Order: sequence, then structure tokens, then C-alpha cells
Amino acid sequence: MGSAPDVYAALKKELEGTRAEVLTPGDEGYRESLKRWSEHCVKEAQAVVKVSSPDDVSKTLRFVKDNKIPFVVKGGGHSTSGSSSIADGLVIDLSKLRSVAVDEEKKTIKAGGGTIWEDVDVEAAKYGLATVGGTVNHTGVGGLTLGGGYGYLSGKYGLTIDNLVSVDIVLASGEQVVASETSYPDLFWAVRGAGQNFGVVTAFTFQGYPQPDPVFAGTLVFLPDKIPQIVEFANTFHEKNDGNQALLWGFSAPPPNNAPVVLVQCFHNGPLAEGQAFFADVLSLEPLVNTTSMIPYPQLNSLLNNSAGFDGRKQFGGGAFKLPLSAPFVSSLHTDFASFCTSHERMNESLLLFETIPYAAVTATPNSAMAFSNRGDYYNVATCFKWFDSGLDGEIREFSKGLLKRASEAAGVVGDEKVRSVEGVGVYGNYSNVDVPVAEIFGKNSTKLADLKNKYDPENLFSRGLRLVPRPMVVVN
Ligand SMILES: Cc1cc2nc3c(=O)[nH]c(=O)nc-3n(C[C@H](O)[C@H](O)[C@H](O)COP(=O)(O)OP(=O)(O)OC[C@H]3O[C@@H](n4cnc5c(N)ncnc54)[C@H](O)[C@@H]3O)c2cc1C
Repeated sequence: MGSAPDVYAALKKELEGTRAEVLTPGDEGYRESLKRWSEHCVKEAQAVVKVSSPDDVSKTLRFVKDNKIPFVVKGGGHSTSGSSSIADGLVIDLSKLRSVAVDEEKKTIKAGGGTIWEDVDVEAAKYGLATVGGTVNHTGVGGLTLGGGYGYLSGKYGLTIDNLVSVDIVLASGEQVVASETSYPDLFWAVRGAGQNFGVVTAFTFQGYPQPDPVFAGTLVFLPDKIPQIVEFANTFHEKNDGNQALLWGFSAPPPNNAPVVLVQCFHNGPLAEGQAFFADVLSLEPLVNTTSMIPYPQLNSLLNNSAGFDGRKQFGGGAFKLPLSAPFVSSLHTDFASFCTSHERMNESLLLFETIPYAAVTATPNSAMAFSNRGDYYNVATCFKWFDSGLDGEIREFSKGLLKRASEAAGVVGDEKVRSVEGVGVYGNYSNVDVPVAEIFGKNSTKLADLKNKYDPENLFSRGLRLVPRPMVVVN
């Protein structure tokens, strides 16, 4: 590899005549392009190439391979693991691949590889359609889909990948293919859960569903003394929901008061009277704040946007919990979480979230059907820590791991094989750090994935996401 300026000048030449842009330090737009959802994922890349077509991606991939340049792919830039930023190489930035096209007849939605969920929700709604997208609409379609994807509609339609019809993908070789159940089915199997390790997806085609009516949704805010009643409500939730509801609840100390509260996000895909009746037991607990109302579907995934701003360092962590939960156990998690956050500066916006999204539709598909391996009769629990002092990075990671392990082990979801009560791995890959062992995220699918990695990316070009490595074929004489 020559000096960095020479190499990237050569890449610029390679992409001449296209709409692609190659930005190096000092170029207008370079610094802005390094922005990520979490400040600790902002890294000074040697160059950022904003590709504008699958051909640009193919040329770039061949170029980085020939010149042995490490690279990452950036979709929406929301991962907190740092897997879409790089200090010693190139970013393949997909932000110019933002487009959504709806096929009214097939009810499918085709989204460019750099699209965010707001683009999908808004465009699909023009046709009275919706699909399973993220609950914060500035999140990228790319990373969320390739790692699985949970949303408010998962109770009805399963994961985002369960509704993925096909992907247009550029492989490590630079070859452009369409992967689906009938075209490159083994690649399509791998892409649905471990996609970030297999290529650059330039377009996703999703199945859409009729969603002509508004939905009942909103946030309730309570003081922590209501934890027992909220736990009781969550415990009955999974028996009485019919897949058309979701309940996200958890702990934080958001502005303006910065005092510990319990946040409850309600969702019912139906009319007002039904929603109010379904959530009556929690609505009657006299919340400090109640924003529930009927809203158009595209607004639903913007409700949490304010609590997910772009400032500060952030760290997602994932575990699992089973219902019923005991109120004293939840209160003890709250005490540990709140005292950790209050004993460190400016951590009040951190969140511990119990994502009670009905799982019957998710578990209708077996873990062997796709690379994704987190299907089981349990719910995700997530930490999202937010802080400003880089000196705290390590301590926060360790605390988060310990807290989630405690929640997950108590539920019998992770831990010693003998006490595990479920088949799924109990960890959502999109909430994990890149150093988590592959087997913890892909369980029994790990070996098949390593074989497919050998088939589609033998040189491990896509190596900065989960540490999935190719398993060379054993030649038997
Ligand atoms: C505020 C917030 C809310 C969230 N809510 C949800 C939720 O409701 N449901 C849920 O399931 N998850 C949720 N997540 C987790 C989310 O799924 C992950 O953070 C995901 O990685 C975000 O994708 P991205 O494209 O924005 O991120 P990026 O950081 O750009 O990408 C993440 C990984 O995917 C790769 N990648 C991205 N696009 C492509 C592509 N087109 N082709 C190949 N590789 C690609 C990147 O290289 C990187 O390895 C949330 C995250 C945040 C920060």
C-alpha cells in the first residue's frame, strides 16, 4: 500500500465519472461524515467513500482488496460497538443510497442500503402499508435488519428479517447478486442475522402489510414506588396480549428533573377504546405524564426519538428476561442501576429497558431457519448507558455486563447449560459488543456460519463487525 494520500487519490480516479465522493481529512463534508449516534464511535478515518450505486461498491471493494486497506461499512451509524467506524482505514458510507420504492401490487417495500427507518415508514404509509421497523426512526435500516430487527409490529409479523424478501448484495469479490429463498439461499440464510459479515447490502426488499388506521400509543411516566404494580401489569401482559400490543418499560432519570422514574411505552394496534381498555390497569396508576393518544403509524417510531439524541458516549448491552418477574427482584435491579448512574456524573439519561414485545410470531420460526439465533420464550432486556467522560468507558461496560447477566441468569435464559430453560441464545447481536464470542450470539448456527463465511468471504474482508471468521474446508484425501 502506498502513502494514504496517493492511495485515496487512486480511488478517486477509479470512481471518476460516478456520483461517488471520496472524502479525506480537510475535505468539505469529511468531518460531518464521521458523525455517529454515539460520540465514542467517532473515529478519524483515512478516507470516507460515499458510494452512489452498487457499481461504486464493487469498484471500492476490489480496490480495498487489491490495496489491502482495512474498511468498515456505515449504514445509519447507530451501532455502539464501533463496527461502522475506523481509524486505520476507509469507511464505505451508504448515505447516498437512501431511497424507498413501494410495489403496490406485491405490497413490497424496497429500501436502499443507507436508508433510515423514517424513510421506510413515511413512504410505505403513502400506500397504507407498514413493515417491522425499529422503534427509533433515525436508526439505519441496514444494521438493524442484518442483525435481526425487533419493532412494535414484531408481535404480529415477527422480526424484520422474517419479512425480508430479498437483498441486493455486493460480495467480497465485488460480484453483485440478489439473495432470497430461491437465489443464493445459503447466503440469504447467513444474511438474516449475520449480514454485516457477508457483504454490502445495497437494497433490502421487505414484505409490507396493510396499516391504514392510526394506532394507540404513548409514554407514561411514574415514580419508582409504582414498580410493583408495573411488574404485575407486565406479568399479565404476556398472557392477555394477542400480538397487537407491545410494552416497553424501564428506568431512567431524564431531563428536565433528572430524577429516577419508570417509563412505560404503550402500543396497541387498534382503536382508542380497545387500547385504553387493554392498558387500563397501568393507566389508572396516576402517571406523572401520560401522552397516550391515537397517532398515525409513521409517528409511532418517532415517539422515543427525543430520548435517543446524538450527544454523548453510549453503550448498548443486551440480555433476556422471562415473565413472570418478581417485584423485589426488579426493584433490586432498579436500585443497582439507579445508584450506579447517580454515583457518576451526567449518566442520568441512561436506560434499563424491559422490551416486552410479544414473541409468539418470532418463535414461530425455528432458530435453524436463519443465522439469527435469539428466538425463545423470553423477552429482550437492554441497557443503553449514556455518559460524557471517556475515563468511564471500561467501568460502564463491566457494570452493564454484570447487570444483564444477573437479569438473564435469574430468568434461566443464559448461564450453565443445566439451568438454561430455552433454546435461543438469550442475547440480541445488535445490542452486543464486537468482542462477544460468536457462539454466544449464533449458538448452534456458528459452525454453519463459519463455513459460509469461507465460501463467500474467505479472506475475511468484512471483519470489523462480529468476530465471525471463515472456517477453511477440510480436504479429505
Ligand atoms: C436509538 C436506538 C434505537 C434502537 N432501536 C432498535 C429497535 O427498535 N429494534 C432493534 O432491533 N434494534 C434497535 N437498535 C439497535 C440497532 O439495531 C443497531 O444499533 C444497528 O446496528 C443499527 O444499524 P445502523 O445501520 O444504524 O448502524 P451502523 O453502525 O451503520 O451499522 C451497524 C453494523 O451493520 C453494518 N451495516 C449497516 N448497513 C449495512 C449494509 N447496508 N450492508 C452491510 N453492512 C451494513 C455496519 O457495517 C455495522 O457493522 C437501536 C439502536 C439505537 C441506537
